[in-house]
Amino acid sequence: MAGIITPKQLLDDLFITEPDEIDLEAIAAHLGASVKYAPLTGCEARIVGDGDTAIITVNSQSIPQRQRFSIGHEVGHWVYDKGKISLECGAAKQQSFYTAQDPESRANAFASELLIPKQMLLPRLQGRKADLSTLTELADTFRTSMTSTACRVLDMQTHPTMVVCHTRTKRLWYRGSREVQDVLRPLRNLSKDSVAWGLLQGNGTTGSEEVDADAWIDHPDAGDYTVFESSFLATPEMVVSLLWWRSDLQIREAMRSSGDDWN
Ligand SMILES: [Zn+2]
Repeated sequence: MAGIITPKQLLDDLFITEPDEIDLEAIAAHLGASVKYAPLTGCEARIVGDGDTAIITVNSQSIPQRQRFSIGHEVGHWVYDKGKISLECGAAKQQSFYTAQDPESRANAFASELLIPKQMLLPRLQGRKADLSTLTELADTFRTSMTSTACRVLDMQTHPTMVVCHTRTKRLWYRGSREVQDVLRPLRNLSKDSVAWGLLQGNGTTGSEEVDADAWIDHPDAGDYTVFESSFLATPEMVVSLLWWRSDLQIREAMRSSGDDWN
């Protein structure tokens, strides 16, 4: 879209080159939006805009990582729909990025790129495995949630990777890197052989292990391969897992035999 400033341009305009310089309130102010904190019920943040100025209100009771994401999200709405707007955005909308293409997803993508810019993330990923220690370190550096950090790591496409989110009873969403997206599909229900399943049973809040791929992947030959699982509780009822393939053999084999014996 012409005339829409990108997160990268925004950061460049403000000479922001390091994660600790990403001051969301200053970035919003640069675009005419001021940020206020107040207890909100039923939503995480809202924006009321008129002409060239807007007021973003963020839930003062949310954790700082969530507040930062919310500001980035509302700034995203403002950049795309400057003028007269009035929106309320809840946690569910801030998940929609992972499953759909719509104004909420667009605002979420904007927030992700603003909070974890590619040019700052890529050098920090170099030579690192997509595992818990990398995720924890990056989430700390960028002051973001583990979930949005995991999704950004996946966006960088440096390895075959998948991010999957489950509750005890179902899969909520998943995303794969380019290599795996339309080739491999995660199980709908968590396998007892996964670390994630244990976390939802109360065995800690994080865990990682190299597991047989049939603990994760819905494919007849999955048991022949392994996958590196890094899981963490996003809430007590929701587990997010970053899956990382050391080699792309399983993906190549699945592509070769693709099609009709699974769905
Ligand atoms: Zn929104």
